[in-house]
Amino acid sequence: SKMNRKIPAQKKIGSPKIEDVGTEDATEHATSLNEQREEPEIDKKVLREILEDEIIDSLQGVDRQAAKQIFAEIVVHGDEVHWDDIAGLESAKYSLKEAVVYPFLRPDLFRGLREPVRGMLLFGPPGTGKTMLARAVATESHSTFFSISASSLTSKYLGESEKLVRALFAIAKKLSPSIIFVDEIDSIMGSRNNENENESSRRIKNEFLVQWSSLSSAAAGSNKSNTNNSDTNGDEDDTRVLVLAATNLPWSIDEAARRRFVRRQYIPLPEDQTRHVQFKKLLSHQKHTLTESDFDELVKITEGYSGSDITSLAKDAAMGPLRDLGDKLLETEREMIRPIGLVDFKNSLEYIKPSVSQDGLVKYEKWASQFGSSG
Ligand code: ADP
Repeated sequence: SKMNRKIPAQKKIGSPKIEDVGTEDATEHATSLNEQREEPEIDKKVLREILEDEIIDSLQGVDRQAAKQIFAEIVVHGDEVHWDDIAGLESAKYSLKEAVVYPFLRPDLFRGLREPVRGMLLFGPPGTGKTMLARAVATESHSTFFSISASSLTSKYLGESEKLVRALFAIAKKLSPSIIFVDEIDSIMGSRNNENENESSRRIKNEFLVQWSSLSSAAAGSNKSNTNNSDTNGDEDDTRVLVLAATNLPWSIDEAARRRFVRRQYIPLPEDQTRHVQFKKLLSHQKHTLTESDFDELVKITEGYSGSDITSLAKDAAMGPLRDLGDKLLETEREMIRPIGLVDFKNSLEYIKPSVSQDGLVKYEKWASQFGSSG
């Protein structure tokens, strides 16, 4: 059944345009993407719509409207994150390379015992780079990136959500290699004994689990590899669809779902070196007086701060010189405003506390040692 011409979809569809899904840091990337942009946006859009229609036509048993919605809201185009954009997290990067990136790029090497995992969970405190890692994995493995959250699958019409989930998996197979990234997986795969669980989220969860296991069993049970030419683009290639999920609340994930995440990677708070790099980046365009040893001290006193805490701290510290001025701020020349100093950070430390408590951290570490994958 290779009658349909295979469309190398992910390459053509992936125009450097930022869609509206999960792109909080879209602005950061916008400038670099603009530089790469050469072809007129409109042609790409039209081309993409034609390709999407073609793909939708080729899918069987998939609701057309649902498929369109998946393309519109869930397939993420462009918006690339690379390994180098992410400070630190070396062991997580290595783990993701081995579990996902290499198998996706060299499927011939990862068969049998080396068969790639079908699910991987990134867990840890909020603001530590889990979403960035998922995006980098998609970029580095040249995969189609599907970014979903509970709200993107919830529909007010009964039964529509299941159709969306089915369409999601069908398209992911069609456009494989694919990464289905589920942010805050706990809100979709929460424990069954959760009182608040309503009918619609229960349906989403069940359909998701059904689709996900059909993926694994189809690939694990079949030995069709000889009918599959290794240099085809892997049309409907079950073996290269991965569910990658992130959560700040790993302990509230349903047990059935948890077991399907064969790899569970702990994404801890940033190490010294990582915080150092981040402070340097944040201050690189500011007038400041921090010396190397000030940076070292800053790193020391921000132990326990997450990536996003560090951003908040730096923002607050940057206000220090303005606060000193009070109302005089209004008539002070810009050049006369004093540079940011270590003292500003120290003042801000009084107010900007780490968002993860010591107790919270212990909870993550306990969960990591009980359920996490080592390495
Ligand atoms: P999470 O998904 O773990 O909650 P994100 O990946 O969304 O966290 O990170 C939130 C923000 O914090 C990012 O947009 C980025 O600016 C910053 N950040 C967090 N961790 C890192 C890191 N390791 N390197 C660079 N920036 C980071």
